[in-house]
Order: sequence, then structure tokens, then C-alpha cells
Amino acid sequence: MKAYQITEIGKQAEFTDVAQRPVGAGEVLIRVQAAGICASDLHLQSPDYVVGPLQKLFWKFPLTLGHEIAGEVVELGEGVRGWEVGDQIVGGNGVGCVSCWQCNHQRSLCQHRPPVFPGLGYDGGLAPYVVLPQGFLVDRGDLSAQASAPLPDAGATAYRAVRHARDVLTPGETVVVIGAGGVGHFAIEILKATTNAKVIAVDVRQEGLDLAARVGADACVMSGPDSAAEILDLAGGRCAAVIDCAGVVPSVALARAVIAPGGEIVVVGLAGGHVLVGDPDLPPGVRARFSFGSHRRDIYEVIKLAQAGLLAAEITTFDFDDVPRMYGELAAGNLVGRGVALMPASGA
Ligand SMILES: [Zn+2]
Ligand SMILES: [Zn+2]
Repeated sequence: MKAYQITEIGKQAEFTDVAQRPVGAGEVLIRVQAAGICASDLHLQSPDYVVGPLQKLFWKFPLTLGHEIAGEVVELGEGVRGWEVGDQIVGGNGVGCVSCWQCNHQRSLCQHRPPVFPGLGYDGGLAPYVVLPQGFLVDRGDLSAQASAPLPDAGATAYRAVRHARDVLTPGETVVVIGAGGVGHFAIEILKATTNAKVIAVDVRQEGLDLAARVGADACVMSGPDSAAEILDLAGGRCAAVIDCAGVVPSVALARAVIAPGGEIVVVGLAGGHVLVGDPDLPPGVRARFSFGSHRRDIYEVIKLAQAGLLAAEITTFDFDDVPRMYGELAAGNLVGRGVALMPASGA
């Protein structure tokens, strides 16, 4: 079958012809219906990417990309319980050592090694079929494949970031979401669905601000030299939380400039921005957190929100054959919302 693979980290991905591996004990064969594409896949293909020692140890190459998977169960491996052929699923969350406290609580912060995911460690969903451990599956019920493919990664990552900020978002408070892209637009929807906070969206692109307004942001601010003053004006001088989905140096600087005393800064993006503990320029009592990915319960809960009609992925769909071109569009900043590849219905 045709798969979109990298042969090693730092190399450009390409279509290759691969054999479908057999389904092992505790594993499930999935016919992929749709697969989201993510900026982290681009990082992996960059020659500047720094390969961690544990990635060298645990990752298998060549590696089929695609860690946002929506599909259908077509075969059960030995010992699989609770799943049936025909179940509609999303595949997500990482698996670590499976024995530490974090892993035993289905959290993706394994104490012993970075979790591996389908598409980030072993073969992912940019292929007609993928084999996943049963622990990767989450039932999506009657949600469509294309609408639910981004939920296990972009959706759940946003959900977890909002969870971190929720304590300070009592009614009437203001939250700023920086970066209204694949993750940020979900954060806005989740904030509107689960808090009473006023949501101010910030982006460097007009398309991002248009998207933010479409999904419910109360106010939108174009990133620029005056954006901190504009945000504080809109917020009545007080921003209880900032969720920074860009994570670059200027966006984190903006978060520091607008956060209120006792506020919560949640940095989601991995792009060089950081907050120093004890920075005398920070207001007192500010908490800052690096939110990485999500836990299994975040995926489950974000799917429940989507099933309740409180969250809908904003997506740009394209044929599987167009994956290389769409990664190019993602790299150029031209994709609106999340890019989702649709697989041929036959699964061929
Ligand atoms: Zn991702
Ligand atoms: Zn572990």
C-alpha cells in the first residue's frame, strides 16, 4: 500500500510502497478514513531538528507520518477486548513505559521515556491502513471521520491547555488566545463551551482572526506593536489567563505584558518562547505552565464536546495524493484551521 513516510528524522517525507504488517496481540487493524496533518511533522523533516537520544532508541524507521487518525476497526488482534469490527474510532494519545504512575493513570507524561504515538515513533495514519494498540483507540460514535480526525491531537491539546487555565477563569474574567490556527481555534471553542470568560484572540494573519471570529471569539486583535495596549483596553485592564498557541518569543512577551496578578500563562507551542520564574517584570502570583499534548481523558472529553455540538473542527480537506502539497501550504502558513487528508473510500 501507499504510505507517506520519512526514512529518518531531518529528511523530507515521500510516498513509498509498504507492506501491511500483521496485526499482533492487543492490536487492532484500522482502515484509515481521514488523517490530520500537523506542524510537528514539518519539524521532524527539518534538517535543523535536534534528535533526542530516546528518539534514536525507541523510534522505528522508515516511519509513516500521521498522528491524527479517524478510521474504522477492520480486524482485532488476539486478546483485544471491548472493540468490534466496524467501530468508528479516532487514534490518539501516546504510550510510554506502561508501568509508571503516569502511564498507569493514562497520562502521557511517562517518567521513563517520551511517549510514542502513531506517526511519532511508529507507523501512523497517512496510509490506507494502520495497526494500533487497542489502548490508542477512542470511540467517536457517529462523528464524521473528517471532523474528528484533528480531535485526538489538535483538539485534545487545546482542551488540556484550557483545563490548565480554567481555575482562574471565573465568570467575567478575560482570557487571551494567541495564535488562531489548528490548535488555537479549538481553544477558543472550548473556552466558549466550558467557561464564561471573555475570549480575545490574537493572530498575525487576517485569516486567523476571521477564523477566530467565526468560532466565537468575543474580540480579535491583529498582532503588532500596540497589541498589548489594545488587549488591555478590551479586557478592562485585566487578563486572568493567556493561552499561547504560538510559543514564539514575541507571543510569550505579549503574554507577559498583559497577564494580571495571579494570572495563568499556558504556553502550548514549542517555538522558543519562555517565561522565567522570578522575573521581576512579571506581576505577583503569576503561574506559567508548559502544556504538552494531552492525556487520554482529554481526547475522550473533547469528543464528548463535539458530540454535544459544542465544538466543531474548522478543516481544509484534500485527497491523500495531495499530502506533499498540503504540507507545503501548512509550512507557508496558508492553511485555515486544520489540514485533513481524506483517504480513498475503498481503502486501496
Ligand atoms: Zn501534532
Ligand atoms: Zn511510564
